[in-house]
Amino acid sequence: MPLSCSLQCFNKCCDKKYDITCSIYNCPKCGSLLDVVHNINELKKINNKFTWELSHSLRKGKPENHLHNSGVWRFHEFVMPSISHENVITTYEGNNPLLQYKNLKQILGLDSVHVKLSGNNYTGSFKDLGMTVLVSVVNDAIKKGKKIKAIGCASTGDTSASLSMYSAIAGIPSVIFLPKNKVSTAQLIQPIATGSKVFALDTDFDGCMKLVQKLAENGHIYLANSKNALRIEGQKTIAFELYENLNYKLPDWIVLPSGNLGNAYALFKGFKLLKELKFINKLPRLLLAQSSNANPLYRAFINKTNIKPTKAKNTLATAIQIGDPVSAPRAMLALRETNGVVEQATDQELSDISAKIDNKGLYTCPHTAVAFASLKKAIDKGIIKNDEIVVVISTANALKFTDFKLNYHMKNI
Ligand SMILES: *Cc1c(COP(=O)(O)O)cnc(C)c1O
Ligand SMILES: [Zn+2]
Repeated sequence: MPLSCSLQCFNKCCDKKYDITCSIYNCPKCGSLLDVVHNINELKKINNKFTWELSHSLRKGKPENHLHNSGVWRFHEFVMPSISHENVITTYEGNNPLLQYKNLKQILGLDSVHVKLSGNNYTGSFKDLGMTVLVSVVNDAIKKGKKIKAIGCASTGDTSASLSMYSAIAGIPSVIFLPKNKVSTAQLIQPIATGSKVFALDTDFDGCMKLVQKLAENGHIYLANSKNALRIEGQKTIAFELYENLNYKLPDWIVLPSGNLGNAYALFKGFKLLKELKFINKLPRLLLAQSSNANPLYRAFINKTNIKPTKAKNTLATAIQIGDPVSAPRAMLALRETNGVVEQATDQELSDISAKIDNKGLYTCPHTAVAFASLKKAIDKGIIKNDEIVVVISTANALKFTDFKLNYHMKNI
């Protein structure tokens, strides 16, 4: 049996399998999200530590194995095993540094914090990790005869930059819907420069998302938002890398800014796979950080209810300004299984902590600042303790958010 994976109902209403290249995004039977399911028994056969280290070092560097320069594709068996390697579209994403900071004690109250620089990717955010998988699968399908006219997404900025870049490399048309005046110039110019059709709509992200889902349902475009389960597969390699970065140890906490909630599920899914393959025997806890102006998950957590869609208010953390998160059920599962918690931060809190932390030799985007502000609250409440290993996921390169930095420091001067 070769390694393989397929799309299945996230709710497990039935065990029907759909081909990975199917243009469906919901279960045809019950309407729930879909999930990529791997053949665990086959993966178990290649799961020993030797294979893992092999994937890291030996395979890398050989010209015929150029894909192993990518932090995503060096794990291709665990990510997307059934793709022709010549059709993979990669910018050697991933392999992002995990830096340890021991100079944040005065600000956070922790002796040491690890920061995973997932913004150190080609288009400046972690979105590249998922997009390489999605665009590669589409490219593979097109090369094998499937008709796809264009790939499209709604975006708060970073998804569109990433989709546009990978589509341009593949030569596949892309279409992008952005909320007018809600993304930074640096974010907006990326998809324009790389040749996407860009529409700025007089609505918010949730409005763009509704439109793009309609277009995808009607078969006009292939959907690239994280509702599409393929992206999760690439993003889950952050978990694999963290495990390596910490020298095959598990962090106690992962702190990440969360909006549409796909990445929260991706991290959980990565660690869960490591557990199923018996590399690890428990899961790290998730601390999901939201803007207090766009906090449906925080409210659900505090009130112990399901997520109720809200209207997101404006926040400096534009990439997580989302009121109706598509991956809500996925994130609820991740929270339950990791004994996770949710915190929130105001614009004032994220701005202040961002400035303080930058002074210690970081350069944080507003979303990563939400993660740090939330981390501080969890430490102050005694939820996170000083002897625990804490990893903050830095989701974007702050060079994309010059206006945010400028406005803060101009005011302060
Ligand atoms: C997309 C994004 C997020 C949120 O990720 P979700 O998967 O939507 O929760 C956080 N920060 C940045 C910089 C992003 O681009
Ligand atoms: Zn179903």
